[in-house]
Amino acid sequence: MLRTHTCGELRLDHVGQTVTLTGWVQRTRDAGGISWIVLRDRYGLTQLVLEEGVESAEVREQARQLGREFVLSVTGKVAERYSKNDKMPTGDIEIRVAKLDVLNPAKLPPFLIEDETDGGDDLRMKYRYLDLRRNPVRQNLMLRHKMAQAVRRYLDGQEFIEVETPVLIKSTPEGARDFVVPSRMNPGEFYALPQSPQTFKQLLMVSGFDRYFQIVKCFRDEDLRADRQPEFTQIDCEMAFVEQEDILNTFEGLVQYLFQEVKGVDIGTLPRMTYADAMRQYGNDKPDTRFDMRFVELSDVVQGQGFPVFDAAELVVGINAITCAHYTRKQLDELTDFVKKPQVGATGLVYARVDSDGNVKSSVDKFYSQQELQKWSVALGANPGDLLLLLAGPADKTRKALSELRLEMGQRLGLRDKNSFSPLWVVDFPLLEYLEEEGRYFAMHHPFTSPKPEDMALLDNPDTIGQVRANAYDMVINGVEVGGGSIRIHDRAVQARMFSLLGFSDEEAQAQFGFLLDAFEYGAPPHGGLAFGFDRLCSLFGGADSIRDFIAFPKNNSGRDVMIDSPSQISAAQLKELSIETKVAEKK
Ligand code: ASP
Repeated sequence: MLRTHTCGELRLDHVGQTVTLTGWVQRTRDAGGISWIVLRDRYGLTQLVLEEGVESAEVREQARQLGREFVLSVTGKVAERYSKNDKMPTGDIEIRVAKLDVLNPAKLPPFLIEDETDGGDDLRMKYRYLDLRRNPVRQNLMLRHKMAQAVRRYLDGQEFIEVETPVLIKSTPEGARDFVVPSRMNPGEFYALPQSPQTFKQLLMVSGFDRYFQIVKCFRDEDLRADRQPEFTQIDCEMAFVEQEDILNTFEGLVQYLFQEVKGVDIGTLPRMTYADAMRQYGNDKPDTRFDMRFVELSDVVQGQGFPVFDAAELVVGINAITCAHYTRKQLDELTDFVKKPQVGATGLVYARVDSDGNVKSSVDKFYSQQELQKWSVALGANPGDLLLLLAGPADKTRKALSELRLEMGQRLGLRDKNSFSPLWVVDFPLLEYLEEEGRYFAMHHPFTSPKPEDMALLDNPDTIGQVRANAYDMVINGVEVGGGSIRIHDRAVQARMFSLLGFSDEEAQAQFGFLLDAFEYGAPPHGGLAFGFDRLCSLFGGADSIRDFIAFPKNNSGRDVMIDSPSQISAAQLKELSIETKVAEKK
């Protein structure tokens, strides 16, 4: 080893010892007769000191030549500091430098390697290897490492076997868009990168592995929203001979274990909510349950009083923004603008303030007597000082808009604390989802998800098909879907039926998924599983919004790695070898 200790290690106990440290120059300070260098490695910071008449003139001259981020090896005695720094774990000591070697000089970094940096996103991404030297970023990756180890420990303890599934697989039409890889040896043919190892893990169940997991890269070529990466990591799991209850219990255990091990938090038992209730009470299949503010349906209470907007609406629904009656006209206008944003989609907002005497003053007083308004207040469980917010319109759209408003109010009221965690299971998802634009049903989870046996009969009737529920479940924490899965179909005929409901001809189903249908004829056990979004789980544990800082080398919002400059063009010769004839556009 080039060092005897790390930069985070030395304490008063070490005083008098001669040590050698290695690391990067965090900063230097020269006060004439005395100068200091702060040396950094991944373990911490240690102060080095050079004093006129104590340290040699030669070493002091060397120190004067140093710049930020130079790589050093330093040997010297550990000494007690006169003025201690209780913010630094090594703040009681410093090193009196006897020997200093520059292992490598460094150019001035393009941004400050400090906790608070002056580097913008683009610059930090271009020099990600420097960004990764910064404490907060390194700590995120250390958290990720800890989480991965804990996942393996827990699942290994539960007899799960980690199996690697292939990365070059086959493109399938269902789900998101695939990334594809041309095959040189099979001209004109392409592999696809897996969107998830779904079919492989099911095949492993057919093979008798019984309990499988993998911490695995998945790839989806989707338009990137703020918090999406084209490649991301899942904790992918599958179990055989189980029912939904067994899966929920096993993975509730995993998440409880992670919270305990990594954050020292006991999250207790996870409540369960049906999809139908989540939509009715929160307008959202991933409700943020850190705060209540549940929806109250008000159609019966408010309709028939001559207010055309409410009378014509399929649904009138409200929330009680507690303690917000003091909101000014300006703040209320802001909320109105908020709900009218295209992403939120409401046409307007009706509000009512409950004053300190319990009187209700609404924005539509013209249509409602005080007696009527009191009914609103009662329905919403309001107290003096509360603000009632109502939306009206088509049911689904209105719920969705109110969900956004609820989250906004939760934010404004400081009810979405990053250090409090409210996990739950959302269960009984619909099996199918009708997409107007496509004019057909899609699998809400994926085509391998089993309908609930008691809903099977509803599949026979086109009018009830949308009501079929699945044994599908999501784990939601703080309004974020951290994982989801289902009990799978393990019967060839049922799977074939499902493909046909999804618009596949028998030939198409056979061509795409023949391997799975065939496998189901060789003794497929009942099975089910789920996958957690590992990046997201890490960012949640780290109290951050973005998953990017929990990925060592992430891509930007255009799916580019700006550090290695990828994607990039390939040579004509490479294209030819791959039998790709498309003319590639000239680079701008
Ligand atoms: N493969 C699914 C997904 O990626 C998870 C599962 O059903 O296990 O969402």
